[in-house]
Amino acid sequence: MGMSTVTAGRIYRGQEFRQSGEQYRLAFEKFPFVGLAKTYNVNAQVGDSAACATALFCGAKTNFHRVGVDSTSDGNLCTGGRPLSSLIEWAQRAGKATGLVTNTRLTHSTPSAAYAHVLRRDWESHTDSTGCKDIARQLVEDRPGRDINVLFGGGRLKFMPSTATDPVDSKQSGERSDGRNLIDDWRAIRGRHDRRQRHYVYTKYQFDNLQPETTDSVLGLFSPSHMSFERDRNRGPSGEPSLAEMTVKAIQILSQKKHKRGFLLIVEAGRIDHGHHVNSAWHALTELAALDDAVRAVLATVDPSDTLVVATADHSHVFTLGGNRTPRGTPITGLDSQKDINGVPYTTLLYGNGPGYVPERNITRLERTHDSEYRQETAVNLRYETHAGEDVPVYATGPRSHLFTGTFEQSYVAHAISYAACIGHYRNQCQRPVEEVKAGGDTYRPQALLVVLGVTMAALRARQLGQW
Ligand SMILES: [Zn+2]
Repeated sequence: MGMSTVTAGRIYRGQEFRQSGEQYRLAFEKFPFVGLAKTYNVNAQVGDSAACATALFCGAKTNFHRVGVDSTSDGNLCTGGRPLSSLIEWAQRAGKATGLVTNTRLTHSTPSAAYAHVLRRDWESHTDSTGCKDIARQLVEDRPGRDINVLFGGGRLKFMPSTATDPVDSKQSGERSDGRNLIDDWRAIRGRHDRRQRHYVYTKYQFDNLQPETTDSVLGLFSPSHMSFERDRNRGPSGEPSLAEMTVKAIQILSQKKHKRGFLLIVEAGRIDHGHHVNSAWHALTELAALDDAVRAVLATVDPSDTLVVATADHSHVFTLGGNRTPRGTPITGLDSQKDINGVPYTTLLYGNGPGYVPERNITRLERTHDSEYRQETAVNLRYETHAGEDVPVYATGPRSHLFTGTFEQSYVAHAISYAACIGHYRNQCQRPVEEVKAGGDTYRPQALLVVLGVTMAALRARQLGQW
């Protein structure tokens, strides 16, 4: 979700609401503070999701494709370097409830950086992981994964044995060759959560019937692999919830009174990236619209005076919005007002590289630029479009949102959040309210705080407001 995605997405949304589009404001564009994050990896000029998410969630840059481990080489074949702790772990240690919501597989590169430690991001299940403990197992067996209260996303097959058939799509079966059924294992965890209030759900119907009051922890796996693109989603009882619906339900569960020390929630709109990788601006922009809906729902659900909300991206894409005196209000998936040197029109949205490459440009192809299946043209022919290396915006509102200004390393985001929320290194640096200090004991209740990480979103919440 680089800057060009935000600008084009804002116009797309505005035009859906029958405006000319340029003046529309996405929900996070109303946040008072904006900064720029530098997204390079330790060994790469242009970052990948795993290493960028590790910077965002663990506060340390690392090498390309590493998940939750640093960039050192200690000879360990499974991690490469030292494991890093994450915002989720810091929040749990401070007594907060935690949640992770994504519309990709829960074991995919971005969400996994919040709980797993592996050398390679594609070690999602036993079959992929070359003898190392795979990401799905780490989520179910290890801390902090097993203690996360709310887990919503896709990727059921990574948790199911190869002998089991998918409960919704009978043509697919589990991907685990070790025979483990990690969904059953997750149900049986003897951890900090009440087992009677532990629920596994996998359809929209079950999701809708999930009662926050009787839910202490929940695992929702709504798709065999990634969840559907929002506009392709089955909204029926056997279908999938939207990103906004999952986010609101997560906040309802996490913000119950029993979670006295508040919560941290990470939400990822991970399919913006997938639209871009196939040069489908339509998919990227409609997924950004789904994120916009989710952020709007967040703002309507939490108290903005005690909740920090941060929206950002893990990295950008080689996506541009160009034109030469293109009239305001021109459909954003349409054509510029001038033609190329051969007299062939071109779209205002273009990519630097990817599968949309056309050796000889022609007018026939341009008759369907508004279709969901249309691929914008590129300069270089690649099977998949690449990420881009420029800085990404970081939008923030709520307590201590002023920390997110200027140009900073991406890893700073995790530290600023931990500072604002009094977790991690800053756990003991918040002043206690006077009356609680007098009363003695460990009764400090830190600030309510919520973090939205654009492509990725985290929330943190608590009560006490006085000391900010
Ligand atoms: Zn990507």
